Amino acid sequence: MNVRVRYGPSPTGEPHVGNIRTALFDWLLARRHGGQFIVRIEDTDQSRAVEGAEELILDALRWLGLDWDEGPDIGGPCGPYRQSERLPLYQDAARRLLTSGKAYRCFCSPERLSELRKAQQKAKQPPGYDRRCRYLSPDDVAAAEAEYGVGVVRFAMPLEGETIVEDALRGPVSFRNDLLDDHVLLKRDGFPTYHLASVVDDQAMRITHVIRGEEWLPSAPRHVATYAALGWDEPIWVHLPIIRGPDKGKLSKRHGATSVRQYAQEGFLPEALLNFLALLGWSKDESTTVMSCDEIVSAFGLEGLGLASAMFDIERLREMNARYIRDLPPAEFLERGRPYLEAALNKPVATARLLPIAPAIQERVKLMPEFVDYTDFFYVRGPLDYSNADLMGRGYRNKPWAALEAVEAALKTLRSLPSEEWTTANLETALRDLASERGERPGALFTPIRIAATGKRVAPPLFETLEVLGQQTTVERLNAAAERLARPDD
Ligand code: GLU
Repeated sequence: MNVRVRYGPSPTGEPHVGNIRTALFDWLLARRHGGQFIVRIEDTDQSRAVEGAEELILDALRWLGLDWDEGPDIGGPCGPYRQSERLPLYQDAARRLLTSGKAYRCFCSPERLSELRKAQQKAKQPPGYDRRCRYLSPDDVAAAEAEYGVGVVRFAMPLEGETIVEDALRGPVSFRNDLLDDHVLLKRDGFPTYHLASVVDDQAMRITHVIRGEEWLPSAPRHVATYAALGWDEPIWVHLPIIRGPDKGKLSKRHGATSVRQYAQEGFLPEALLNFLALLGWSKDESTTVMSCDEIVSAFGLEGLGLASAMFDIERLREMNARYIRDLPPAEFLERGRPYLEAALNKPVATARLLPIAPAIQERVKLMPEFVDYTDFFYVRGPLDYSNADLMGRGYRNKPWAALEAVEAALKTLRSLPSEEWTTANLETALRDLASERGERPGALFTPIRIAATGKRVAPPLFETLEVLGQQTTVERLNAAAERLARPDD
């Protein structure tokens, strides 16, 4: 079977991470089987369409690395890929259903429908259309058309029996037909509803697997009945378990889940988010969690999907991200961090000199914007921003003269190191020896050196930092610190 799957977002805003999981599973199945991943913009509800949303959706897919084979921007053999551009197809299907008696025109006014809804609410009955127009005679229909126009087209649901949805994860799920009302297929303005458009397009686009969130399961019997009414073969139905937060509630903003773009901005790596999302409803086995995209593709299959609720735990995502950052090749880590640093410094920078210290920074950065905290001081010219209290640290608290003495001793040691011996190992030996000569705890001595060299209390490891900073800058910065200590804080 040539696998063809589609992601059918409605262009109502930015894709939420929960929604993009559907796209990911579609994409994984297509890539696993060498099939096609299709993006179809479901914009039949024009009142909800948001300008620019389509581009945001495509951007989110691109950022995650989910490339598509057919879609609104690149076209393809089953185009166009925006439902608003496919109206004749839906109208044609509606006509076929009308002709075969599987659908009927309904002329009930919005006011009548709202009255009906109110009455049903009051009587504690389930809401739904009461089928008044289903039994109009051809003459009644002609008269109503003359008076009210074409009306809407409704599907004539079977009145008895059950409709079975064969779900790949659940097995057969049966729905009582008498509980399903006659839904609208075609609106007054000639636009289809989701129910009609998705069925017609899935057939026309030769979709083999419909993968979507569990919230669409209640709609599935309507779709199954429509396939049957049109004499078409159904696709394989896959309704993914709902994504929940750690409190078991449906995933929402309060669980930290928002748009994909926001994750990108916060500094999550796309490959970490992809790995994390893949595990929301799928697993390779009982223990593997960290997998490259290629590994996920080759292990992916419907058999790995499960119904256990998919829990979105932002802490787990953070850990995953930190892990991915740590595992990047150092040169690539620097390349990915560079744009953040350039934005912070407002100038272009070359990061190659940071290569020796990159692994140590990778250990510390959990989100990419933190890259700036660990690197900007290498590029700053002029005085760094810290106080005398910072310089003194706990070791020399309220003892500026003792801190000054320590800085001067360190200066002497560092100045006298021959430049070719300015290496992490030599710096460590020299400064540790100095601390023991002075009978001090190394921590006390290293604090003013760290603050002087970096301006920060939290910085990459000291000796590596000094090596990369270089002898001249280190000495200049320690001199500046000595001058600061010689005069009290402003
Ligand atoms: N347009 C629907 C959505 O926004 C797609 C549902 C489906 O995949 O059938 O989620």
